[in-house]
Amino acid sequence: AAPQLQDAKLFRQQAYIDGQWADADSGERFEVTNPADGQVIGTAPSMAAGETRRAIEAADRAFADWRAKTAKERAQILRKWYDLIIAAQSDLAQLMTLEQGKPLTESMGEVVYGASFVEWFAEEAKRIYGDTIPPHQSDKRIVVTKEPIGVSAAITPWNFPIAMITRKCAPALAAGCPVVVKPAEQTPYCALALAELAERAGLPAGVFNVVTGDAEAVGGELTSNATVRKLSFTGSTAVGKLLMRQCADTVKKVSLELGGNAPFIVFEDADLDAAVEGAIGSKFRNTGQTCVCANRILVQDSIYEAFAAKMAEKVGEMKVGSGFDQGINLGPLIDEDGLKKVEDHVRDATSKGAKIAVGGARHELGGTFFQPTVLTDVTTDMKVTNEETFGPVAPLFRFGSEDEAVRMANDTPFGLAAYFYSQNLGRCWRVGAALEYGIVGINTGIISTEVAPFGGVKESGIGREGSKYGIEEYLEIKYMCMGGL
Ligand code: ADP
Repeated sequence: AAPQLQDAKLFRQQAYIDGQWADADSGERFEVTNPADGQVIGTAPSMAAGETRRAIEAADRAFADWRAKTAKERAQILRKWYDLIIAAQSDLAQLMTLEQGKPLTESMGEVVYGASFVEWFAEEAKRIYGDTIPPHQSDKRIVVTKEPIGVSAAITPWNFPIAMITRKCAPALAAGCPVVVKPAEQTPYCALALAELAERAGLPAGVFNVVTGDAEAVGGELTSNATVRKLSFTGSTAVGKLLMRQCADTVKKVSLELGGNAPFIVFEDADLDAAVEGAIGSKFRNTGQTCVCANRILVQDSIYEAFAAKMAEKVGEMKVGSGFDQGINLGPLIDEDGLKKVEDHVRDATSKGAKIAVGGARHELGGTFFQPTVLTDVTTDMKVTNEETFGPVAPLFRFGSEDEAVRMANDTPFGLAAYFYSQNLGRCWRVGAALEYGIVGINTGIISTEVAPFGGVKESGIGREGSKYGIEEYLEIKYMCMGGL
């Protein structure tokens, strides 16, 4: 079941190091499967520490020339990369739905969203301004410049196979830093297609490298190698903590985008139809497999029944199928482990008194398909309260007062995205300020854009991606003090 692409060269089954397509030293390969039918799409090289080291060395060799280019020269190459990604939208979306499972319309959207970071940071590179500071002594001058931090590593997850790479690599490249990417083993082909397009765009050898293979071995080298000055990781909290520990020995700068446990609060003064629509958009995008998906839907007592009824009705109309089928809203879950977690959360909730308003079981299509589900009478002793379900299950909790809602929302070690719906202006400001989250959606369930800072507080992570802030992650500040004037 190899992909049928207009441009067959976008389906690459080799890694990309120092401007060369490469196999593993061991000759070993791993299989990549389509989550919709379990069929093997192809294979990719099982690389380990040695190949990773060579990629880092290549990046290091490329660094001097890449940083020496003017921002405008780098921007022109990145702009070309952007144009090529957009031109390949349909092929990239095919690859994405094939290896990741999301509906083709969502894949088409992600290609544009992913590319937007390349466009944005190509422009932003020209605005890496420094400072002059009035001196503390009259014979001195103080100048602050910003410099590229150096060779950067990116370790990315499977849920956004293109956007998670461009979010990290575009600011790094724009700032003058070469990168080594390790994509998720489930979704290497989007990453490798990006490498093919990067080469065509004219990124010099060694500036952009993609190493596929053994996560522990590749990650071990990326985090222990002193040449790597920066690690940006998106993925699970457990792996993020491990990588942060591993980076401690060489004191690397880290950006971490980890798990969330997003509350979605519906106050009694909300526009109910808009809230239902927002909750569905936030909860079920990518079949519930995003770190900003609403994980806990908190609904005020007086409107609980009405909201639950509307939500169940709309969710009951959602269509499940292969991402390539017309008119579907939900694809399969990424794998069997993902499916088991969703099943376990539903079973745990119903065993403690939750009721199934709609869905609640594996889908008749089999495989890793699960029915879009709404649970009511959910209480805080259930797993859905504290763990990210990462699937199409919307649990509805009840609250009485605004204070109680805020307390419930903040009662978690995570702090990535939160959402609430209210038409009361005072409440919007109050609650917006009180939520301990990096991102707050007010009367909207969709918050991702390249122009705004994306990132979490508490155990959801460190650093921001996108926006003018995103490029700072790849810059160091240098202060020069000129004396004897
Ligand atoms: P998910 O649950 O979304 O798969 P993971 O944190 O396991 O989240 O995976 C995110 C990325 O981290 C993937 O690219 C994966 O290969 C990588 N990864 C997983 N374990 C390790 C590890 N021990 N060292 C380095 N990278 C890892």
